[in-house]
Amino acid sequence: MIPSHCRLECATTKPYLVVPENQGMAGSVLVQCAACSLVIESPRPSREKIDAFYSNEALWTNSRDAEGNQRSYVNELLAKRPQFDDLVQRIERFRRGGRLLDVAAGAGLLEKSLDPARWQVVGVESSRYIAEFGARELNTRVTAGYFEDMALEPASFDVVVMKYALDHMERPWDVLVKAREILKPGGLLVIADLINIDSFSARFFAEGHRLFHPMHFTYFSAKTIGTHLQRIGFEVIQVERPFMKTPYCNAKNLRTFAGRVVRRALNKFRGNNEKVFSTAFYGNMIDVFAVASSGNPS
Ligand SMILES: [Zn+2]
Repeated sequence: MIPSHCRLECATTKPYLVVPENQGMAGSVLVQCAACSLVIESPRPSREKIDAFYSNEALWTNSRDAEGNQRSYVNELLAKRPQFDDLVQRIERFRRGGRLLDVAAGAGLLEKSLDPARWQVVGVESSRYIAEFGARELNTRVTAGYFEDMALEPASFDVVVMKYALDHMERPWDVLVKAREILKPGGLLVIADLINIDSFSARFFAEGHRLFHPMHFTYFSAKTIGTHLQRIGFEVIQVERPFMKTPYCNAKNLRTFAGRVVRRALNKFRGNNEKVFSTAFYGNMIDVFAVASSGNPS
């Protein structure tokens, strides 16, 4: 049973983990709900810091990962295409076409991978910069704005997709409730690349886990996302760990991963506080497929 207060804003929490500041990136304090096990960042960064983070175009062109490596979403677009093609194949096991809403659509890569003869795609993206980049460079049609603020007909979509999105959302509960309302009965919700706090890496590397970031407000697991989806009126039909088909699943990465597991284990044994970063690994992310059940959302 989940107490009524626990709508992803859990009131009774216990300490979970303190992630220290790293190479100029702010740290974060994570707590865990005593009732439902959800892990949340508390306190969150200030309004000013959140706005500054998302309005900075360098987020898309020149960012840094946990180890300080330079990354560029824009330059990595082409490399991401196979991942989107693969996601489309997995969506099409359950739905072969219809109206699809892509929440946090970025430049519109999902739209590029969907067959326009079968799918009518609506994309929404809070960053005007990357939505306009998609229109200009990829000929996609992503609306700049917030899903939470969009006026959408109830029961008007066959599929809602949220990829790399839910952990960043300021009001994840409201977002899921809205997704439930706009889906037709039996419609499909796809939560892709959701950070999995129950992963081997998150547990073993703790503060060195590469996916901890101050702009991730909520950390789900297969269990906690399932619990909350059920309360909102969804039935989870499939949970997958998509690592094997990503570019990160290669011999070099796996060797690095094995080396760091050994180093972390030795450090623990010797009482050495050196921080060891995890690499991409199986189970770090989960994809959740859920169906809007016929009952009313609670
Ligand atoms: Zn809770």
